[in-house]
Amino acid sequence: MRRGAAPPGGLVANTRSADAIDRRATPGPIHVLTYHKIDTRPDIGINTVSPRRFERHLTTLLSLGLQPLDMPSVIRVAAEGVARQDAGVHITFDDGYQDFLDHAWPLCVRHGFPATVFPVAAYVGRRNTWDLSFPRTSHLTWAGLRELSDAGVTVGAHTETHPFLSRIPLEHARAEIVDSKARLEDGIGRGVSVFAYPHGDSSPSLARLVEDAGYSAAFSLDPSVPMGPTTRWQSPRTAVYALDGARGIAAKVGRRGTGPMRRAWAINRLFRRCGYAGLLVPGRRGPSRIVEEDGVCGTGR
Ligand SMILES: [Zn+2]
Repeated sequence: MRRGAAPPGGLVANTRSADAIDRRATPGPIHVLTYHKIDTRPDIGINTVSPRRFERHLTTLLSLGLQPLDMPSVIRVAAEGVARQDAGVHITFDDGYQDFLDHAWPLCVRHGFPATVFPVAAYVGRRNTWDLSFPRTSHLTWAGLRELSDAGVTVGAHTETHPFLSRIPLEHARAEIVDSKARLEDGIGRGVSVFAYPHGDSSPSLARLVEDAGYSAAFSLDPSVPMGPTTRWQSPRTAVYALDGARGIAAKVGRRGTGPMRRAWAINRLFRRCGYAGLLVPGRRGPSRIVEEDGVCGTGR
């Protein structure tokens, strides 16, 4: 599949990876998944999923009967509420790394998944020196972002510099939220209507700033709240990590099952309790800000 091509209309279902998953489970509502890096390079941490594993996630989601949704559909649900026919999944990628263009987007195209990327606006075209992860990696360039936007990828804002927004003065947070929108709109030549809180760090005060800035919807990393008008500027997402296999991804979209599925839940639960982000990020409050739903892991960046 040509890099940057528009998603095909038809979906290619591959059921191999979900053979052991309980398909009798009732389809859930809207699921918005969050990835960070899709890369073959080893990384210290949990945010890099290999392309091979990512593709297995996509085929698992299809085999479970989840319809890939585009971001305008998700925004409509956030604004108006969920209807039964809205059940499906949308995939987002935080921080805007080059590997999204190189590895993730071609697989999304191959399997018919629209996507949203949330770049750290002041770091477009730069190394990720804002992050503690190692080795360093490159963010998408403006040319890359424009190529993706032209191909149908939704580009959303993720602040200018990726701070914990609740820990900085409100006026500083406002600037991060407003300026990143303006910078991205200038850079890609299109409107930017969605926002993702760095580290999933949101609050009602920050949500008001996001609403006032003119976004249509915003996303946390809290999978426990329902999607709809009452959570429109703190909409739920579920983070996906390197340790998540086919069963793990199925568990994260609400499939319960028995045996191996329960083990996938247990791993997620243990991982969440470790408060990974709290260990790595100075000043991080730890797992108290991370919300669990039936053992589903909600930590992330
Ligand atoms: Zn981030």
